[in-house]
Amino acid sequence: MGKHEPMTPKAIGKRIKAKGLQKLKFYCQMCQKQCRDDNGFKCHVGSEAHQRQLLLFAENPNKILDQYSSEFLHDFLQLLKTRFGTRRVAANMVYQEYIKDRHHQHMNSTRWFSLTGLCKYLGQKKICEVDETEKGLFITYIDKEDIASREQAAKKAKLEKDSEDKMRKIIQLQIEKAKAAEKPKEEVANPVEYKPSETTVKFSFKATKPTLKRLK
Ligand SMILES: [Zn+2]
Repeated sequence: MGKHEPMTPKAIGKRIKAKGLQKLKFYCQMCQKQCRDDNGFKCHVGSEAHQRQLLLFAENPNKILDQYSSEFLHDFLQLLKTRFGTRRVAANMVYQEYIKDRHHQHMNSTRWFSLTGLCKYLGQKKICEVDETEKGLFITYIDKEDIASREQAAKKAKLEKDSEDKMRKIIQLQIEKAKAAEKPKEEVANPVEYKPSETTVKFSFKATKPTLKRLK
């Protein structure tokens, strides 16, 4: 087939399938089924499998919405973490990469409906830092595990420092006690040292006493 010859629908379908670029509007989120075109989608919607899924959904729409939302969030954050880490990135850039996966959870079947809604949620739940510029919304993933481990390390360091301080205080106390225990010995030793002078005083008194007696 020449380059400029029109392609058959089958060939086009094949090419689309190979590229994984199928139109989002032909994707049934509920059944996670990609249909090739409008006709295929109509066929799918009329199928028994889809009807069964529809009944399940009707029974518990909130549960399914929750499930879609949590799956979406999980995959979106997984991509954000592994691909961008904690770098600040345009939310739309992450989203464009996210939707490259042809089995991605579609935003319009989640509780957020739009990227803006999602970003708002990420900010409120402190999952990401969110800021808006004229270029759109930017998100920065907050690595809670990293923060937690850093806090843990800081706590441990503080505990170690505290016990070190405590030990130093105990040693200081022991030194002071030991010094205090030595002091009375010095005080006892002092009078002993002065004893000779005391005796001389006594002697002088003894010397004066007899004279006083004699005066009486
Ligand atoms: Zn379906």
